[in-house]
Amino acid sequence: MTVTLLGFPWDASSSYARGPALAPGIIRSVLFSDSSSPYSIAGADIRKIISAYDFADLPETGETCRAAISERIAVATASNARPLSLGGDHSVSYPILRAMKDAHGPVNILHIDAHPDLYEEFEGDRYSHACPFARAIEDGCVNNLVQAGIRSASPAQRAFGERNGVVMLGADEADRIPYDKLIAPLYVSIDLDGLDPAYAPGVSHPEPGGLSTREVLAMLAKLPAAPVGADIVEYNPERDINLATAHVAARLIKEVAALMA
Ligand code: MN
Ligand code: MN
Repeated sequence: MTVTLLGFPWDASSSYARGPALAPGIIRSVLFSDSSSPYSIAGADIRKIISAYDFADLPETGETCRAAISERIAVATASNARPLSLGGDHSVSYPILRAMKDAHGPVNILHIDAHPDLYEEFEGDRYSHACPFARAIEDGCVNNLVQAGIRSASPAQRAFGERNGVVMLGADEADRIPYDKLIAPLYVSIDLDGLDPAYAPGVSHPEPGGLSTREVLAMLAKLPAAPVGADIVEYNPERDINLATAHVAARLIKEVAALMA
């Protein structure tokens, strides 16, 4: 199985700071920079695994943009490749998951984030980057949703999660992740603010007390199924320091792509 790397330069659904639209191009340049090797930790050659790239521009408005994202995921899956998407803000995950459902049925999701992203609406926007998993659950895109690194859940989001069987775990609860729920078809969504800002400072909503890079890599290594799709979102280059967060994103791409293949 090969992997298509997609770039979704969209940040108009962000609630605070713009910047993630700049992320895909910067992450891609770091991924293939001579400053790091093209191999996963276990030795997979990322240049052979990622067989196609789709970094086109997106339409300007939310609805047309979401339709375009779903369409591009559908094109990748129709060509028998697994989509690995780079945000953009986390709102891109909802249209991605709609297309994943069309291809695979409801998916099981490992969602790494400081935030549950389960708001009914945020600042009047049902498609905000604070809402994608609420929309995906409502649309029947999700079988099991397992969240790790959560440390900013509002009471309303906790209630939504409890009503819908979401497993919501904090950054100190990695040993409680129910890997038996993360079976095929498996999807992985990594919001970089799930990591501690010490490891990933280049995000719009830093929340201290997060996961280390190695804790996230350990979670990925324990997954019992090969992901059929994944996204890495919320990199904000305007908040980054010496491309540190872009290098974390590049490492995560290598490990996730190796699992997907
Ligand atoms: Mn998020
Ligand atoms: Mn977040």
